[in-house]
Amino acid sequence: MRRVLKEEYDVLVVGAGPGGSMASYYASKGGAKTLLVEKSQEIGEPVRCAEAVPRLEEFKIEPSEEFVRSYIKGGYLIAPNGKRIEVRGGKTEGYVVERKIFDKYLAIRSAKVGTKIAVKSRVVDLYPCEDGFKVKVLHLGEEYTVKTKIVIAADGVESSVAEMAGLRCKKNPMEVCSCAEYEMTGVKLLDKHMMEFYFGDLSPKGYAWIFPKGDAANVGLGVIDKKKKAIEYLNEFLEHPILEGRLKDATPVEFKCGGVPVGGPIERTVGDNIMVVGDAAGQVSPLTGGGIYLAMSCGSIAGEVAAKAVKKGDYSMETLMEYERRWKERFYNTLMTELKYKNILQKLGERELNIIAEVMDEKLEEIDVKKIVLKAVKKAPSLLKYVGELIS
Ligand SMILES: Cc1cc2nc3c(=O)[nH]c(=O)nc-3n(C[C@H](O)[C@H](O)[C@H](O)COP(=O)(O)OP(=O)(O)OC[C@H]3O[C@@H](n4cnc5c(N)ncnc54)[C@H](O)[C@@H]3O)c2cc1C
Repeated sequence: MRRVLKEEYDVLVVGAGPGGSMASYYASKGGAKTLLVEKSQEIGEPVRCAEAVPRLEEFKIEPSEEFVRSYIKGGYLIAPNGKRIEVRGGKTEGYVVERKIFDKYLAIRSAKVGTKIAVKSRVVDLYPCEDGFKVKVLHLGEEYTVKTKIVIAADGVESSVAEMAGLRCKKNPMEVCSCAEYEMTGVKLLDKHMMEFYFGDLSPKGYAWIFPKGDAANVGLGVIDKKKKAIEYLNEFLEHPILEGRLKDATPVEFKCGGVPVGGPIERTVGDNIMVVGDAAGQVSPLTGGGIYLAMSCGSIAGEVAAKAVKKGDYSMETLMEYERRWKERFYNTLMTELKYKNILQKLGERELNIIAEVMDEKLEEIDVKKIVLKAVKKAPSLLKYVGELIS
């Protein structure tokens, strides 16, 4: 283990979450000598996630029984008055995984193509040097200086690595959703293949969820609210009348908490010798808070671009900009549209949410937000003030 911290690398990836493991996988596969550095003593721990991922086939990853706990066919959107909208198929299909195992699986997959991994190793500083960075890594009380041509910062929502390299990626606390979650057993689900999403005052400016997970379920919520802590809202949610006592006999087997950056992507995700990936780059759906798919996709692109740059012997911002161009081409417009929708959603009161639910069909395959709001305006003129924002 110490040995891997004494070598020089082409690519050093900080953080072995889904973003970092995918980045290191593609960097190694492309022939770059790659080190993945993770501060936790165990990859995948602690879990801060409701563990829902979309279909994995796009990543050429088999949905193995090793980590898949539930197959998901869609979700119920539940209005404050209890009206349920069923959305099935397409992008709503996927899995609830055991992230402790899933994250480790991704890291092992990366190691199999040549990535070296250092666990219980925290990046504490880095500074530019000729042809790259010198990265200071703290491992079991000892400090190591690792030389690398490229750094990929995949160090999550509390990212500090990109800042160390001079890129601005501090998140505005008002744009970070505070989440609390119990994994519980004994939950009476509406359907063992459907996720449940609850909106309204029970989870201000966010939503509460129940996701099936094998014999258990992830029951949690995210709020942007200074009045109470997320855990207080969560404890109230467990006994909320909207659940009609379905959690009466449920008991927790795990507690999880964490923040989700829902304020959209950071301005610049590339600098000389560095790329920023996943939560660290704000590559998270502002509407759902889902970030695994984006971290995996953007991580894959960053890894490919890093390997190409190493082959070319050019690690300048100009060359690495291919990463920013490619991920923006795929995701930027969607992220910005979702940001707009999220900002509107956060302003809606329970009455308006109920009216929106009222005008929606009970079963849908896709949600056309503009069409729904235009329909709802007829019943709730207070929504009119958002129409301009919506179509801008
Ligand atoms: C309660 C909750 C529920 C969620 N539910 C879902 C969901 O159901 N579906 C979904 O898609 N998304 C969900 N998310 C979001 C999702 O967890 C993240 O978007 C995703 O994990 C981002 O992956 P990442 O690789 O960018 O970062 P992370 O998974 O956060 O990985 C970052 C890694 O970097 C390591 N690290 C940090 N700093 C350093 C350092 N200095 N040195 C070394 N290592 C370091 C960390 O230990 C961590 O392992 C949820 C988030 C929360 C908080």
